[in-house]
Amino acid sequence: MGLTTLFVASLAAVTGAVPVLNPIQAIQAAGPPAGQVITKCTSPGMLALAYDDGPYQYTQKLADILSQGGAKGTFFVTGTLYGCIYNQKTAVQNAYKAGHQIASHSWTHPQNFGSLSAADLTSQMQKVENALANIIGVKPTYMRPPYLATGGNVLSTMKTLGYRVITDDVDAEDWNGKTPQQSEQKFQQAGASGNGHIPLMHETYQGTVETLTPWLINWAKTNNLKLVTVAECLGDPTGAYLNATGDGKMSC
Ligand SMILES: [Zn+2]
Repeated sequence: MGLTTLFVASLAAVTGAVPVLNPIQAIQAAGPPAGQVITKCTSPGMLALAYDDGPYQYTQKLADILSQGGAKGTFFVTGTLYGCIYNQKTAVQNAYKAGHQIASHSWTHPQNFGSLSAADLTSQMQKVENALANIIGVKPTYMRPPYLATGGNVLSTMKTLGYRVITDDVDAEDWNGKTPQQSEQKFQQAGASGNGHIPLMHETYQGTVETLTPWLINWAKTNNLKLVTVAECLGDPTGAYLNATGDGKMSC
């Protein structure tokens, strides 16, 4: 048997072993695996600005600042942490339409996310899916756990639900009282080389939206970093969502 024949034969053997995927499985198979912790981009030359805990009063402004800077951002939204998600329905729709990524950060942002039962974790995720289906007509395939909790039943449940689990590799520490200038130093320390960063930031702080984000847009330009969504920085530009139909209730 020649090399080519051997190759074709082994390819056929492998192909034969792969089950036929339905369309949803095909989309999921194209991107990063579900249920495994992802901390940074898969390639250099990019930066995936990622914001938790909204939507809130700054969501529209943040989406506009990013868009005007030629940047795409990622919004890890909750259902009820800073008011009901439907209160910011238009801002979420606008951010989605502008090409920013909408992802999940659980429904209520429970402090004990890492010790919830699989059933409670599933409920936390499905409530956000329902709301986003109502608001933007799709459900997300990316999530960031509240408090970055990846223990307990979190990863196995996210795998079952098909979620890519994102944490971070640079913590802006805006949640910890750091000023935008102190957060900027953390990015400078992390540097612009190596695989792209997925920072932990919060859209609920005015300084993060109005000071840190414009600085990061400039920092990226200075360092020739492309500002992309988390899905894009993981080589998965079309895998951020699945089609979904919500219950139409539009209330928390
Ligand atoms: Zn959070």
